[in-house]
Amino acid sequence: MLRLTIGTALRAVSRTATATPSRLPVLTSRAHLATSIRAASITGVRSIHTSYTTTTTINSSTAAATPSSSSSEEPLPTVQRTKNNTTIEIQPAQGSKYHHPKTTLNALWLRDNCPCPECIHPSTRQKLHASTQVPLDIEVTSHQALPEGLEIVWSKGLEDVGDWEAPEKSQPGHRSLFPWEMVLGSYGGTPTEHRAESRMNHAPILWDEELMKSKVLWLDYNEYMNTPEGLLKGLKHLQDYGLFFLEGVPREDQEVAVAAERIGHLRHTFYGPTWDVKSVPDAKNVAYTNLNLGLHMDLLYMEAPPGLQLLHSLENSVPGGTSIFMDSFKAVELLRKEHPLDYEVLCKTPNTFHYKNANHHLHYNRPTIVVDPLNDALTVNYAPPFQGPLELPADQMVAFYGALKKFAGYIERPDLQFRHTMRPGQCMVFANRRVLHARTAFDPTKGKRHLKGCYVDLDMFKDKYRTTLQAKNDGLF
Ligand SMILES: [Zn+2]
Repeated sequence: MLRLTIGTALRAVSRTATATPSRLPVLTSRAHLATSIRAASITGVRSIHTSYTTTTTINSSTAAATPSSSSSEEPLPTVQRTKNNTTIEIQPAQGSKYHHPKTTLNALWLRDNCPCPECIHPSTRQKLHASTQVPLDIEVTSHQALPEGLEIVWSKGLEDVGDWEAPEKSQPGHRSLFPWEMVLGSYGGTPTEHRAESRMNHAPILWDEELMKSKVLWLDYNEYMNTPEGLLKGLKHLQDYGLFFLEGVPREDQEVAVAAERIGHLRHTFYGPTWDVKSVPDAKNVAYTNLNLGLHMDLLYMEAPPGLQLLHSLENSVPGGTSIFMDSFKAVELLRKEHPLDYEVLCKTPNTFHYKNANHHLHYNRPTIVVDPLNDALTVNYAPPFQGPLELPADQMVAFYGALKKFAGYIERPDLQFRHTMRPGQCMVFANRRVLHARTAFDPTKGKRHLKGCYVDLDMFKDKYRTTLQAKNDGLF
């Protein structure tokens, strides 16, 4: 029932998305769906994450997507009650589409996650009770493997906890039915495998100049705006490489916002919803000069720097002004392998980023490299022009400066950089927390250079990627 509801909602969402004309970005919020939807074909944490965190190592064959055949065709698994009726063990049958050898689920977890309409609100898809209402000594009174799922009857009802009152119907004898797709699909196997299925694993393909030259995506703007296949092509490239380019974007002032809203709503900052990158007198940001601007990320002085950046070239007739991109994850990998101690220093030492100008004062401390195994995520914080004075004891300075210099040694290697001079009508879309960007100096007296930019939060990207991928896996396009 859970799957049906989500599928139906998605179908509706997807039709809206594909039927929407190019100039009307879809504003339907899909955040509430995203958490329930598996990134089905993202099969495990590869490359960089397996090397950073042992807890997220996943065998891609066991985390593989499950086919979409209905549960009635699935041979019934063997279900056993263990540990005094407080644990359920499920063994998929021979020929099952589920490849986990065995799934062990705790009674507390099962009762807490009963998907019935008394436990999950049918339209909001949100829980109607608190986890703390599940009695700690709850047991399975009876269980049954049915074609439609695992049926469990409970020994105890939910408890009152403060304002959370146990609903009438959830008292002893409450019957739960867990679709096989839930207990063997989304949550089958080990908890690590659950994560691989229910989250979008950031499984980046690390690149250098040579690889990016062979893989760079020039995506037609109309294809991106008007077809789900085109959108998915761009999103997948962002997920894999952190960068793609749109071509044939109309040279209209606000077109960058239209392109961004194909992915998600804009992230407004004190620079405005969109902003101009051109040389201006008395600039308040180095970006708004004609100076060389080295490889960096934007807005690291904010608590939540935006995950995506778009830059649309409206005019470019100046000598110079070439854009440079660099995969910081590649630099992290090289540093970790070749200078593990420096890698450790950059993982734990806070760097300071600030913007103190034009009646603003933003300030944030963060380590250069942040590994987040819970979210299978790696984040890099590197922005030389926006650093403030370090707030470290004097005796830590040598280690930090030394490690940062080693890291910069990789970042500045030309064979790890991709260069391109933007032509009018092109728009770069890149992961601001992964792909460093730079611009060479240009001569503003010999022509014009004007880019228009905006930001989108990474959550919007993940949301759109998961739902678009799910729609594709559901055969909707
Ligand atoms: Zn229930």
